[in-house]
Amino acid sequence: MANLLDRAVESFKRVGEGLKTVFMHSFREPTTQEYPEKIQDLAPHFRGRLALAVNPDTGDHLCISCRQCERVCPDKCIEITAHKSPETNKLELIDFKIDHGLCMFCGLCTEVCPTTCIINTNDFEMADYSRESLIYDIKRLTLTQDESTYYFDKKELPRPKPKAAAKPAAAAGAAGAAAKSAAAGGDAAAKAAAAKAAAAKAAAAKAAAAKAAAAKTDDGETKAEPKAESKSEEKAAEPKADAEAAKKDVVEAKTEDITAEPKADAEAAKKDVVEAKTEDKAAEAPEKDAKKDVKEAKADEKDPE
Ligand code: SF4
Ligand code: SF4
Repeated sequence: MANLLDRAVESFKRVGEGLKTVFMHSFREPTTQEYPEKIQDLAPHFRGRLALAVNPDTGDHLCISCRQCERVCPDKCIEITAHKSPETNKLELIDFKIDHGLCMFCGLCTEVCPTTCIINTNDFEMADYSRESLIYDIKRLTLTQDESTYYFDKKELPRPKPKAAAKPAAAAGAAGAAAKSAAAGGDAAAKAAAAKAAAAKAAAAKAAAAKAAAAKTDDGETKAEPKAESKSEEKAAEPKADAEAAKKDVVEAKTEDITAEPKADAEAAKKDVVEAKTEDKAAEAPEKDAKKDVKEAKADEKDPE
């Protein structure tokens, strides 16, 4: 019985508390927010739409294309396009895409970003008519300098330092390039010298052949040109005078070719004319014989006896 009375008292107490709460709320000002006319002031670390902040002081883009956010994203909704600049020898951001249709606003990408570039904004109004329009490119993601300043202050983020002036590629890769070119330069010079020497040798051989041909056509004997050839070959073998010797030999070979060829051609033409004449004579003989035969046959017909 006592137990029943205790339970009844407890129930009346609870009902009284409920009635008290209803009574109190009946006289209190409503707390309903007139959204979208009035937007509630969100907490500083509210995780809304993702954006790329710029340096609040200079307006420089903060992303260094390290792709840490892309790798850490569990939904794989970040896609970064970057290339290595030949001028600065550093990665340069080309495009940055975030598919907000896939993003679950976990904030992991903002946690790993070393430059505080990618941040969660307070914007949550992203309703759209297609999934494609939820893919934000770098243009839509990048905040203005004022917006970046607002979020850096609101989230109490450390201000980034201004970028150091980009060194030109020649200076940036000077150490490596200089070492490479020093090593490769020697090889290239050696190769060039070898190529020149080879060209000089070829030119000397050509000149020798031309001289020998010219000597044969003039008097049927080879003269003292081979000595000159050997000299030129020796010169060509010398690394200092290789280029000049090659040029000289080529010029000589050309001039000798030009002078030797017409002589040989003239003699060949003469030979051809003589041969043609003898062939014509040989060809004329059977014709004469045939004419004789015809005449004799005609005479036989006239005088059958
Ligand atoms: S908030 Fe999470 S899901 Fe969205 S892009 Fe960043 S890491 Fe990916
Ligand atoms: S982690 Fe930051 S700096 Fe690295 S690629 Fe992502 S946004 Fe750019």
